[in-house]
Amino acid sequence: MTDLINLTLSDAVDGLKAKQFSSKEITQAFLTEIDRSNPHLNAYVVVTADKALAMAEAADKKLATGKSVGKLEGAPLGIKDLFCTEGVRTTACSNILGEFTPPYESTVTQNLWNEGAVMLGKLNMDEFAMGSSNETSRFGPPSNPWRRKGSNAALTAGGSSGGSATAVASDLCLAATASDTGGSIRQPAAFVGVTGIKPTYGRASRYGMVAFASSLDQAGPLAKTVKDAALMLEVMCSADDRDSTSLHLPVPQWTKSIGKSVKGMKIGVPKEYRVAGMPDEIEKLWSQGIAWLKAAGATIVDVSLPHTKYALPAYYIVAPAEASSNLARYDGMRYGARVSGGGSLTDTYEQTRATGFGAEVQRRLLIGTYVLSAGYYDAYYLRAQKVRTRILQDFEAAFEKVDALLTPTTPSAAFAYGEKSGDPVEMYLNDIFTVTANLAGLPAISVPAAVDSQGLPLGLQVIGKALDEEACFKVGAAIEDAAGFNARPERWW
Ligand code: GLN
Repeated sequence: MTDLINLTLSDAVDGLKAKQFSSKEITQAFLTEIDRSNPHLNAYVVVTADKALAMAEAADKKLATGKSVGKLEGAPLGIKDLFCTEGVRTTACSNILGEFTPPYESTVTQNLWNEGAVMLGKLNMDEFAMGSSNETSRFGPPSNPWRRKGSNAALTAGGSSGGSATAVASDLCLAATASDTGGSIRQPAAFVGVTGIKPTYGRASRYGMVAFASSLDQAGPLAKTVKDAALMLEVMCSADDRDSTSLHLPVPQWTKSIGKSVKGMKIGVPKEYRVAGMPDEIEKLWSQGIAWLKAAGATIVDVSLPHTKYALPAYYIVAPAEASSNLARYDGMRYGARVSGGGSLTDTYEQTRATGFGAEVQRRLLIGTYVLSAGYYDAYYLRAQKVRTRILQDFEAAFEKVDALLTPTTPSAAFAYGEKSGDPVEMYLNDIFTVTANLAGLPAISVPAAVDSQGLPLGLQVIGKALDEEACFKVGAAIEDAAGFNARPERWW
């Protein structure tokens, strides 16, 4: 039965509809594999076996009658621990949420269940989605299924959606939900050789997603193929009155963009993304991507995004500022864990927050509070917001000339545990190519494109105009086609 777990989401959905196998069979196959592999990979922090089997049974009933069969009927998925799931512990991998079990469901996950998907469990992540390696998770990090040639060193699966990336790359689910504030879908996708897309800001509802930086947070999928990512995103996105920034627009059928030619499309290559110290292999990958798209009939245009160098510093002001405000709600009174301050309310707040938040989250809250404080607000927060506007204007000017932009997803392949965790700035540099799309609210996809000389996957990123996920999917599928990426990690677990 284990071959069922190797299927793509689209093939599994078709197989279920054609009654080649039942939802119960494929769900059980994943649960067996999770039992065997999760102790080594640490992708899941909660496994909801009973719930999964009950959901599978319900799906099988619908599939049997052929009536009101959903787009994902019977398909087992993993859910990032950032999405509130009714009756299932949700902690954003932070101690401060204790054993918090939400009494309600996030819109994104509800949309998946409405289309018949099955929940296997909750996936590991960086605490409150702050990080690029999952080393800040309260449950310890997952392990990237990939390893460098001839080395046993455990590598990070990236972050913050590292558990989702690990689960998809090692066949512990058909696809997974993830979220992206500064690159948390795209960087892990690149590190494990799968596809991930962050839609235009406002496409996916933030209702029931544990907030990090509300003006940047967007949900999106991690999946085995570009088509699977399109299918997942179609279901995840919706207009939602419970999120005031939700876009009230119809959700396009993105699966229909797959296979459409990129002939005649203009693809921009931003010169500022050629950063100093970028490894040759990343440079080579980028040139290869350009060559593939040219061969597929696209025109390559050099463009300039002059404010790119200010994006990372601006992001690391705006994101912590919003986090410091969002995370003020964790005071030990209403959610999760509480550490008593011995009768004093202030001491209880302080003890709870000092014990409940990890070091990286505390660092961000301190930075965020500082840049918002009187006297520093204008110098830091306001200036960062102005930079943000400039970055958006750069993109708008570039998109007058081109239909989409092509860049590498990350400045390097997956790194080992401990390699960057000692130096926050070194860790933040990982986000250099991804944060711009969040600051400007644009859709961006990462597609696996090659393996480097160490045998590790590398990803290419396509950034689209606002609301033009279709361009991301079209160009992404063209890269997928040309790359023919079919490398798999050697099984060591
Ligand atoms: N790595 C980035 C950060 O630490 C992005 C995280 C994210 O997108 N959630 O903030």
